[in-house]
Amino acid sequence: MKISKIFLYDEPSVPEININQLADFIKKNFAIDIEVRKNIFSNVKETTAKQLASCRIFNTRKPFEFHSPSAEEIEFEKNSFQNSSKIKNIIMYDGFEFQKILSDLISEAENSANNFHLIFTNRLMCTYDYNDYRYHGRAIICSNPSIISTTGIIEAPAKPKEYYIELISNMAQGLNLESIKKKYRGAYLEYHDERISTIVEGYAMQALFYYLTGEPFCELEECRLFNPHWQKELLHSQIEIGKLCKKHQKILGDLVLDLNS
Ligand SMILES: [Zn+2]
Repeated sequence: MKISKIFLYDEPSVPEININQLADFIKKNFAIDIEVRKNIFSNVKETTAKQLASCRIFNTRKPFEFHSPSAEEIEFEKNSFQNSSKIKNIIMYDGFEFQKILSDLISEAENSANNFHLIFTNRLMCTYDYNDYRYHGRAIICSNPSIISTTGIIEAPAKPKEYYIELISNMAQGLNLESIKKKYRGAYLEYHDERISTIVEGYAMQALFYYLTGEPFCELEECRLFNPHWQKELLHSQIEIGKLCKKHQKILGDLVLDLNS
């Protein structure tokens, strides 16, 4: 697949994404023309709010079925279009359905295979896994458009095991969540963590690798294409290592040559 232009849609409620810095990063690494846009929801349709409310997940043990939304749920979606910082609680959406709805918001002129769209949202993307018959939070939905969920980056890779163990044992004695959080601070991402701006570079690379090569991930933890199951792995690949492995660096070099030939 060839890309002649990338459209990058910001999530205004998460300034830590630092969208212009990300655009520079992509331009520098992939040498593709790029346009930054404020928010995918600045151009919604009459039906968008209802569609979004219909793909919310309430039972994580059941495969996807459309939800019949209440007037309040539709209103909530409408109010979040311009100000998504209103989303305080974590609301789960089926990632594939969500992706389809957003795809529908892209104009026909721009919805061609050589235009790649990368959309940020703070809504939590989830996909149903038939291996364990439940929904899991996702940081990224690879497709065109690709979706990167900032809430997914924070919630999907698990925090240290000890954190959960301590949380559960403390619950029995009357929970002091703050002191546990303090103890593990830095070991996992928090909301509005400034490291998000670096981490989104890795996820953007995964989305682009998926579209250009069909393979978004690398099995090496020492590569920004590594698909982390733990926060520790995420921070290792994206912050401590912060680069591609040799193999993927070579693939990227070849891609850039090919894209510009
Ligand atoms: Zn790699």
